Amino acid sequence: PEHAAVEALQAADVAGLLPRPSHATDKYLRGVVGVACGSVDYPGAGMLAVGGALRGGVGAVRYSGPRQVGEEILRRWPEVLVEAELPSAAGRVQAWVCGSGLPADDEYAAQRTKQVVDSALPAVLDAGALTYLDDLDLGEHIVLTPHAGEAARLLGVERAQVEANRLDFVRGLAAELGATVLLKGSTTLIAEPGGGAVRANPTGTAALATAGSGDVLAGLIGALLAAGLRPLDAASVGAYMHGLAGRLARREGPIAAGDLLASLPRAWHNLQ
Ligand code: AMP
Ligand code: MG
Repeated sequence: PEHAAVEALQAADVAGLLPRPSHATDKYLRGVVGVACGSVDYPGAGMLAVGGALRGGVGAVRYSGPRQVGEEILRRWPEVLVEAELPSAAGRVQAWVCGSGLPADDEYAAQRTKQVVDSALPAVLDAGALTYLDDLDLGEHIVLTPHAGEAARLLGVERAQVEANRLDFVRGLAAELGATVLLKGSTTLIAEPGGGAVRANPTGTAALATAGSGDVLAGLIGALLAAGLRPLDAASVGAYMHGLAGRLARREGPIAAGDLLASLPRAWHNLQ
């Protein structure tokens, strides 16, 4: 075949990729993830991204955004480091999560996205950040997390076209934008810009089709990047664990995105 096969993610492969801190590690060695998400209009998306990041196996989460959002985050998670500006000094964070809850057509949000990409660190760009990609220097180290509607907008096609041929569109988007792309949906697909096998996540559940679910995923993938996973693996493990958390949480009944945060640790425990 012209294209390499689609690979379904396997439990054993994902288990082997989970960050496993050595006995003598410390919080810096485990990795620090910076979260540039959330806005005065959409504070919740920033909180859910932080929550996902806190469950992703890093040593620390640094949140940067509007003061009101930061205060809300601190009330819920005193362990998060909150600041108004992006930490600019090299080495403060090992990866970024940017865009969940950032508005489109907004100078500040565009600036944030540019700062994140210009840092050359691995990053997840989600939601609002996906509207500011023009003229940015992306690469394999950047993981884009569009759903079909966001992918369609990036390519200038109709959403239905993407839905009808998700495999070709995830490959095409990765090649055209020169970034790792995770196309969300009932079967989430992950492609690298250089081609190669597309990974398919088998753990998805319709319970994940709920507002804020994608924000949790973005935070989780960002943490996995900061923990040192390569972008394709961070995206794969993130999607897999997000799905497992959804399956565990739905046992109790209908779930909200925040419920995923409570079941993520159990999903890790079950897989290890
Ligand atoms: P977002 O649209 O950004 O909130 O992201 C939605 C999340 O839920 C993504 O991780 C999707 O892959 C997942 N999702 C949405 N619908 C389904 C579905 N029908 N089955 C499995 N996962 C889904
Ligand atoms: Mg979303």
